[in-house]
Amino acid sequence: MAIKIDEIKLTLNDYKTDVHNDWCPGCGDFGILQSVQMALFELRVPRHKAVIFSGIGCSGKTPHFVNVYGIHTLHGRALPFAIGARLANPELNVIIVGGDGDGLGIGVGHFVSSGRRNVNLTYIVYNNAVYGLTKGQASPTLKLGMKTKSLPKPNINDAVNPIALALVSGYTFIARGYSYDVKHLKEIIKKAILHKGLSFIDVLQPCPTYNDINTKDWYMGKDRVDPKTGKPMPRIYKLEEEGYDPYVYNLDDGELEKKWIQVIEKSLEWGDRIPVGIFYVNEMTSSYEERIRDVISDYFENPPVKQRISTDGGLSNVNLERMLAEFSTRLG
Ligand code: SF4
Repeated sequence: MAIKIDEIKLTLNDYKTDVHNDWCPGCGDFGILQSVQMALFELRVPRHKAVIFSGIGCSGKTPHFVNVYGIHTLHGRALPFAIGARLANPELNVIIVGGDGDGLGIGVGHFVSSGRRNVNLTYIVYNNAVYGLTKGQASPTLKLGMKTKSLPKPNINDAVNPIALALVSGYTFIARGYSYDVKHLKEIIKKAILHKGLSFIDVLQPCPTYNDINTKDWYMGKDRVDPKTGKPMPRIYKLEEEGYDPYVYNLDDGELEKKWIQVIEKSLEWGDRIPVGIFYVNEMTSSYEERIRDVISDYFENPPVKQRISTDGGLSNVNLERMLAEFSTRLG
């Protein structure tokens, strides 16, 4: 859905708060925060029409630092809060932020069922493979056999593949960013906000305090040198620079299946080469709001947020009998 440009002249600083930020020095969270602020500013999203929901974890503090509406919710529960807000007011631009433990551990049920609905939201996962806020335990994205400095023994769980999980759950925009490449991440976030449907961005976000393996230097390949040039060989590369096409143009003729295979293949690349960029975009599938509109024809004109909930005398004006009668008529 297109966003109307606000008449008010806003600057980037208008999207920042002066709340003290106590993330560790060098944390990848800073780059994600900056990317979110810049994306909102460059799209000129009116601040009263933007809201950020977070779960629990270091990332959970993000809404405190962005000068739009912000709700710091419960561990793993940010998605259902956000879905409720968006469905009540389909004019809101809703962003959800959370860590990999929050979204893919305790919140994984909501992660999957949100994909089935395809509500128009943007979900950003800060992926550092550890639970930073609680001293670096292994999170669902830490690979099998890895031993970060915070673990006494190597990890004996296998890792979740966030990109593949988002795809099979039904997310219609799937991307990966890198927190130290703010310009690139900001562009991905802008496209995700403008996407019609549920967007997911997996952000590789080094935690310099507890994850001493997937560090900034590791992502930039400083531990290996190109024998020809004598320079480090970065692990991260951009999909768009290799001619990758994420868009689904047609739901028939086997195109969707081909795109799914392409996404799964790319999602498995890790180690020597790690792709970032947009993996998948499908605007052919209806959003949840459109599905509601098919049942309640005036949903967009008269969403819950515009409806009166009480009479002038302050009494509830909910008429359950009338509501049930309406539902049975509409649903046949
Ligand atoms: Fe960032 Fe890790 Fe510190 Fe949390 S513990 S603020 S993720 S560096």
